[in-house]
Amino acid sequence: MDLLRARAAGAPPSLPAVDALVAVARPEEPMHCLRPAAITEAAAGFVAGFPGETLYAVKCNPEPAVLRAVWAGGVRHFDCASAGEVALVRSLLPEAAIHFMHPVKARSAIREAWQRQGVRDFVLDTPEELAKIGAETGAGAAEGLGLFVRLALPKGVARYDLSGKFGAEPEAAAALLRAARPRAARLGLCFHVGSQCLDPLAWRRALALAGAVIRAAGVAVDVIDVGGGFPVAYPGVTPPPLGAFFAEIEAAFEALALPGAALWAEPGRALVAGGGSVVVQVQQRRDGALYVNDGVYGMLSDAGAPGFVFPCRLIRPDGPAAAEQEDFVLFGPTCDSADRMAGPFRLPADIREGDWIEIGQLGAYGACLRTAFNGFDRARMVEVRDRPMLEATEIGLAEEALVEETLAEAA
Ligand SMILES: *Cc1c(COP(=O)(O)O)cnc(C)c1O
Repeated sequence: MDLLRARAAGAPPSLPAVDALVAVARPEEPMHCLRPAAITEAAAGFVAGFPGETLYAVKCNPEPAVLRAVWAGGVRHFDCASAGEVALVRSLLPEAAIHFMHPVKARSAIREAWQRQGVRDFVLDTPEELAKIGAETGAGAAEGLGLFVRLALPKGVARYDLSGKFGAEPEAAAALLRAARPRAARLGLCFHVGSQCLDPLAWRRALALAGAVIRAAGVAVDVIDVGGGFPVAYPGVTPPPLGAFFAEIEAAFEALALPGAALWAEPGRALVAGGGSVVVQVQQRRDGALYVNDGVYGMLSDAGAPGFVFPCRLIRPDGPAAAEQEDFVLFGPTCDSADRMAGPFRLPADIREGDWIEIGQLGAYGACLRTAFNGFDRARMVEVRDRPMLEATEIGLAEEALVEETLAEAA
């Protein structure tokens, strides 16, 4: 990937590096650093490698610069879950294909999506939602309505289990497929194995279940959507390369032998995690605890109760730091004692008030979860040229040409 890397690092060359920005701006508020080239590269890698259509799950990071970077990587389909997301994508990317993939929608959101935003595909997991979509669009197969049945999966091994909230059990899903078939120009079956799922076999099992549901339904299905959940690297977590997931999915999909059916995926984290970081400043040190100016009500939600460990590094523009490293706990700025991030954050032993820390892999489920709680909402966003703080596992040198091609086509 050297060629790509060189181009990503140099494109656009006008963007500053994180260290230079900190040295000049000396930010006393959190600084969100967005790496558009890294996002474009990750998106192009996914599009080139996945044996089907790639939809970007907008909730993961809806920042306009992120949506544009994903588009530049060749993604043309967007998975939205609300009227707000639909309107945002439509306003920024008029040519985008938008799919409404939330199984429980406001009636007004369905109407607006269908009538004003050109959305044709809607997800459901109950007969009530099927009726709602029919009533609010006033459309059926003849008008090009797309209906996707969300299948419930048994609790899996993903870092974030999503089995508890949405999805129809197999028997109900088969009944929904049968009910939806005559009303749909395009009928799909979708699922989500859970976020940050490290096991490629989770998709094989889910696809086998999807096949059983389709056989039970006895109707033809046009799309199988394998959802998101594709993992990225965190300290101490090195997922298998994406290619291993793609191979598993392709084999399991082919084993279903569904003539004419298309394969879709809805990655979020895998496209954007490496593309974001936050620079925080140390406001006080108490032994092994650092009080910093962003926390779980800011960009670091997943570092709190969910216990994700993020990569970090010291930024001290004015001089060298101790070679010796220690594990630190971080406290965020709000008065809530839950505003605590156990990490561990491994940093130079002499870290002190006034130092900055860059915390990485925050492009997914970072900035979009922040709140204004306690008045700490003054973060600034900047675009930078840096590489991700942790590189994704290589998708394989053989695919470099394919990624190049995808980038060229998207340009
Ligand atoms: C959140 C979500 C995704 C994206 O999940 P990642 O784990 O970020 O890849 C995709 N599809 C649906 C329906 C989701 O809710």
